Amino acid sequence: MQNHMEVTFDSISQNESFARAVAAAFAMQLNPTLAEMSDIRTAVSEAVTNAIVHGYGNNGEKTVFMSCDIRGNDFEITVQDEGKGMENVSLAMQPFYTTMPGTERSGMGFSVMEAFMDGLTVESIPGKGTKVVMIKRIGSVRDDE
Ligand code: ATP
Ligand code: MG
Repeated sequence: MQNHMEVTFDSISQNESFARAVAAAFAMQLNPTLAEMSDIRTAVSEAVTNAIVHGYGNNGEKTVFMSCDIRGNDFEITVQDEGKGMENVSLAMQPFYTTMPGTERSGMGFSVMEAFMDGLTVESIPGKGTKVVMIKRIGSVRDDE
C-alpha cells in the first residue's frame, strides 16, 4: 500500500496533541499494535514540540509542516520547521544535550525518537530550519500473522 498526507498548523503547543492524533489516525491503515501506535504518538510529539519550542522559540505565529507516507509496511513521518535551525545536529542528538537547561527540557527528545522509531534522519540549516524524518516499520514485532 502507498499513501501520502500533508498537514500544516500554527506553532502553538495545543497543536502537539493535534499532530500526534492525526499521524496516529493515518497510521491506522497499517493496522498497528497499540505499542506501535504509542511509539508513533510519542515520537511525533517530541518532533513537533522541538519545532515549536526550539525552531520557533515559542513564537506561535509560525507554521509547522508535517507529512506522513505509507510505503508498504513503513510509516514515514516528516516534521519540518522554518525556524532557527541547528549548527551541530550530531551534538544536538546526544542524550541529555539541551540548549534549555534548568527548564522542563531534559535533552531526551531525539533519544526518544531514536529509541521508539526504526529510523531517524535530521537535517538542519542554521537560520533556515529543520527537517526530521522518522520511520516506523509496522508489523515487525508481531507474532500473530
Ligand atoms: P526534551 O526534548 O527532553 O524536552 P530538548 O528538546 O532540549 O529536551 P531534544 O529534543 O533532544 O532535547 O533536542 C536537543 C536540542 O536540539 C534542543 O535543546 C535544541 O537546542 C535542539 N533542537 C531540537 N530540535 C530543534 C529544532 N527543530 N530547531 C532548532 N533546534 C532544535
Ligand atoms: Mg525536545
